[in-house]
Amino acid sequence: MVTVEVQHNKCTGCQHCRDVCPVTVFEMQPREKFPDAVDDPAVAAKFQFRVEKSAVIAGPDCIMCEACLAECEGECITIVDDEGKVHQSTYK
Ligand code: SF4
Ligand code: SF4
Repeated sequence: MVTVEVQHNKCTGCQHCRDVCPVTVFEMQPREKFPDAVDDPAVAAKFQFRVEKSAVIAGPDCIMCEACLAECEGECITIVDDEGKVHQSTYK
């Protein structure tokens, strides 16, 4: 089973993952839903943190298209595929 994770400390709420995912793995939710998240200063130096963060609502539906991995401002999406290989987002 594929697993998808978002590190909320680094998630800027840019919505790119939600917009590009063909199978609705992500949903934007108010940042108040992530009370433990502390905005990462290194990411904040480059991008603005918005009022929402991305929640993974359907990780097992991921078809490994890798679209989100190239679009994530916070470089904070990690996907582990069926074979246990780890894929980390890198913003292009
Ligand atoms: S790699 Fe998975 S989570 Fe990312 S956009 Fe594609 S289907 Fe969605
Ligand atoms: S693309 Fe990355 S930084 Fe942007 S909302 Fe999704 S998880 Fe957060």
